[in-house]
Amino acid sequence: MQTLFRRAERLRNIEVSGIRRLFALGQDASDVVSLGIGEPDFSPPQHVLDAAVQAMSEGKTHYTASNGILELREALARKYQREYGLNYNPESEILVTVGATEAVAIALLAFVSPGDEVLVPNPGFVCYKPAVRIAGGNPVEVPIHENNGFKPNLEAVTSLITKKSRVIIVNSPNNPTGSVLTQGELAELGRIATENDLIVVSDEVYEKIIYDNTSHHCLASLAGLRDRTIVVNSFSKTFAMTGFRVGCALGPKELIAGMLLVQQFLIASVNGPAQYAATAALEGSQEFVSQMVSEFDKRRMLIHRRLSEIDGFRCTIPQGAFYVFPSIHDLQIKSSNLAQFLFKEAKVVTTPGSAFGSQGEGYLRMSYATNYELINEALDRIETKTRRLKK
Ligand code: PMP
Repeated sequence: MQTLFRRAERLRNIEVSGIRRLFALGQDASDVVSLGIGEPDFSPPQHVLDAAVQAMSEGKTHYTASNGILELREALARKYQREYGLNYNPESEILVTVGATEAVAIALLAFVSPGDEVLVPNPGFVCYKPAVRIAGGNPVEVPIHENNGFKPNLEAVTSLITKKSRVIIVNSPNNPTGSVLTQGELAELGRIATENDLIVVSDEVYEKIIYDNTSHHCLASLAGLRDRTIVVNSFSKTFAMTGFRVGCALGPKELIAGMLLVQQFLIASVNGPAQYAATAALEGSQEFVSQMVSEFDKRRMLIHRRLSEIDGFRCTIPQGAFYVFPSIHDLQIKSSNLAQFLFKEAKVVTTPGSAFGSQGEGYLRMSYATNYELINEALDRIETKTRRLKK
């Protein structure tokens, strides 16, 4: 039996996601407020839902092309031209994927060979390291410190590069810290990638969720970077379409062709009606997005203010995404223990910073993609219960 259940070597060192673990607990209990999972509490705009229903009624229920329906690839090409002045050929340079999660995974499966190294942010989005390992590569963690505004230190990045380095994953706006890289900072990372002939996987799923006149710069739009960059994006956050599972990858045709080869045999094609919904999301009014982001902005200010009033939490104001990442160093408790404590005592789900990598220890991630009243309620409870910890 033991041999029967022996897992493949590629699953060694891969554990269940720290976010999902607490999320599952929260689902089973009552009176729980979740600041755990990163998904908007909004429903997608009506015209997006209608497009999925209409596609089904019209019999568009079959497999689609493996790289996605042409309408959606064309809509993506128009978006990147309009917003960033980037030209991608919808025939060969754009791939529709099962969310950004699959896009990142197939980029690594296509271009990482056993023993190759992939630079990933630490703390960073929970899927990166497992995806590197599943692809047979070795993740190399770029430490990200609060005293550098939760941005990668360029000297540290350079010092981690070896002959085996193959890919660098960049994520701005960032999960879990909410930091946003400036054009200059992105260009510097791009320079390091160019000097060392690395592929850049630029995860830009939070491109629209930014505040305070901060701008998002698509990494591929910076000089010289288009031809080594795979831009990864998603409909999950921008249009509150997490359950539709549609994302995309854009890049030079050689990179996209490699990814398509994996995608063909891994998933065949993305859910058809969901692709029509995604097309409607891009082509229709964008008012939904600005309304959602201005609501997130209010919640961001609320959660920041409330946290700054609670002893033991120290919180910078994030410029992007929908997370705060307060320091809990003063409470002198491990982040996983604090998350457990808050779940048990306050019935509030949070995510320990350590779930995002060793450098996340000493922090707690709280998602404010939940409604204003619930955020207030969660913070009331946290305030009351953490008083006990300080004694
Ligand atoms: N990248 C980042 C940085 C994320 O935070 C997430 C979702 N939490 C994803 C990718 C995955 O998104 P999708 O639903 O498109 O797979």
